[in-house]
Amino acid sequence: MNVTRRCAHIGDKGRCKRMTTVTHPFCGQHTREHLFVTVKKSLIPKAGLGLFAEKAFSVDERIVEYSGEKLTTAQYDRRYDKDSMGSYGISLSENFVIDARQTTSGVARYACDYHGSGKKPNAEYVNFGSRIWIVATRRIKAGDEILTDYGDDMHRALGLE
Ligand SMILES: [Zn+2]
Repeated sequence: MNVTRRCAHIGDKGRCKRMTTVTHPFCGQHTREHLFVTVKKSLIPKAGLGLFAEKAFSVDERIVEYSGEKLTTAQYDRRYDKDSMGSYGISLSENFVIDARQTTSGVARYACDYHGSGKKPNAEYVNFGSRIWIVATRRIKAGDEILTDYGDDMHRALGLE
């Protein structure tokens, strides 16, 4: 995947000239400044990229929105066959799914599951009705990796049990 786009930050000197690949809408520096998180290599072996806190978060504080396309469950099922459990869908309700697969969906999808980290999850997906956020379940310090619990179905599909 090699999608590039201009950083969306506009400062005193105009729009940021840096390009962003995975951390839309901002470049790395402006993701930190605007969203207080950063995307970099996960501390979990072979997990790929992970999401890290750039500031402290207290319990129940919203960290980042899990944004993406809102699909009906039927649309989502049509898009992905049963084998593609590596996808980024989270159920909003019985009828709707947020699909964060596109690189333009934001950074929340880079949060890794806690398996293999040697740590407990420090955040969870919370459904606020029409939007899903990753919310801290423990105190998170600046620099900590944000680790969620993908749930039993996903653990089985990923062979994590
Ligand atoms: Zn920028």
